[in-house]
Amino acid sequence: MIQAISAFAGTDTIAALSTSQGMGAIAVIRITGPNAINVTESIFKPLGKLSLSERPSHTAIFGSIHEENTIIDEVLVVLLKGPKSFTGEDTVEISCHGSVYIQSRILQLLIKHGARPARPGEFSMRAFRNGKMDLSQAEAIADLIASQSKAAHKLAMQQMRGGFSKQINQLREQLINFASLIELELDFSEEDVEFADRTAFRQLIKEIQHTVNSLVNSFASGNAIKNGIPVVIAGEPNAGKSTLLNRLLNEEKAIVSEIAGTTRDVIEDVCIIEGVMFRFIDTAGLRETVDTIETIGISKAYEKMGAASIIIYLFDSAVKNQEDVISEINIIAERFPSAQVIPAANKIDINRNQFNTIQGIIEISAKDNTGIDKLKERLLLESGVNSGDSEIIVTNIRHYEALIKVREALDSVIHAMNSSIPSDLIAIDIRRALHFLGEITGQITTDELLGNIFSKFCIGK
Ligand code: GDP
Repeated sequence: MIQAISAFAGTDTIAALSTSQGMGAIAVIRITGPNAINVTESIFKPLGKLSLSERPSHTAIFGSIHEENTIIDEVLVVLLKGPKSFTGEDTVEISCHGSVYIQSRILQLLIKHGARPARPGEFSMRAFRNGKMDLSQAEAIADLIASQSKAAHKLAMQQMRGGFSKQINQLREQLINFASLIELELDFSEEDVEFADRTAFRQLIKEIQHTVNSLVNSFASGNAIKNGIPVVIAGEPNAGKSTLLNRLLNEEKAIVSEIAGTTRDVIEDVCIIEGVMFRFIDTAGLRETVDTIETIGISKAYEKMGAASIIIYLFDSAVKNQEDVISEINIIAERFPSAQVIPAANKIDINRNQFNTIQGIIEISAKDNTGIDKLKERLLLESGVNSGDSEIIVTNIRHYEALIKVREALDSVIHAMNSSIPSDLIAIDIRRALHFLGEITGQITTDELLGNIFSKFCIGK
């Protein structure tokens, strides 16, 4: 199957619905490949004298789609002659009325006249194969389509426009220079010469390691931005957890529910604050099973808290005292060192105890909507998303895994140099680092890798 994709890519003409399945005001059907224009011409009658192939590229042409003597629809056709198209091939986009019947009729006609149905991601794969973009840019398109928040959109856009690729290519180029010097030494191995200055080389590898490390470390936040920052609201029964969650969700829900493709489950637990998506992890188990924070240890809630980047520790300010709260916060902080803990004193609308020595405490009334804006500001701050605006952030697990392998290879290079291991072995490790960098941008690919990546795309993209 994967073999078949590669064998056919770019040699035949493919067609697919590029807008979402179902009825809409309009729908767009895309055709690309060497016969895209011919195939369209066999069913499309443009208004005016010129045929489709006689028209200039990058124009929109009004006309009708026919099946023998029956008019199927009046449509607008956009003509994009290769190589100046998304795929790099001749491409036609038919905007028709969005009836499911019309969509399927037009697709069937295109197939009858020589196109074949496109596989998932096949348009993007052609764009990659035809050198219109590298692999990480093509992957960013899928992320862009899936982006649900301003922050996720920004990262996908940055990657699609090549920010990440540029950094990876710089790393590759630096390594290639040295690799070639080392390989030259191998050619002269009888003569015991050293073309590559070892001190400069060690320095270079250290610099590259530093960049690779920051990219690897950025994945945690990149992943959180893409999938939502996981937040747990922890606290005893009656602290007001459900009230607070509803408060946060209700205020932001309208925005989230407008996003196409989000499922109902997701809508309930996700909210977007200032363009950053937060995913509230259900803590229902907490309420049912615990009385004090220490007994949480044996409950499932602990497991969920372990997955959180941020834990809002919520307590009832009318019944808790400062000492207990401090010790509970310490237990949480100790147990979940990688999570940021936000202590929140709830129910400040009623009589409350003093909590003024607790560092970073936020006082709220979930019921009266007091202090909620402060809490949101804190969530944003602890998410760390808006810090370091210009830095490159890794969001894709495939890239992350490749970077880990690059890092291992570079560690071996340093180790080899420190142990005076011969150049030919150092060269192998450098080539390994180059290989994994090349896998990210697609200079090095296999059919299996491409099949894996593009099969996860939508059909029509
Ligand atoms: P949970 O068990 O932690 O989920 O707590 P709930 O959200 O169910 O709230 C428990 C009770 O506290 C309910 O009667 C809420 O109406 C009440 N409550 C929640 N937040 C506040 C608040 O800010 N002020 C007051 N006075 N009551 C609140």
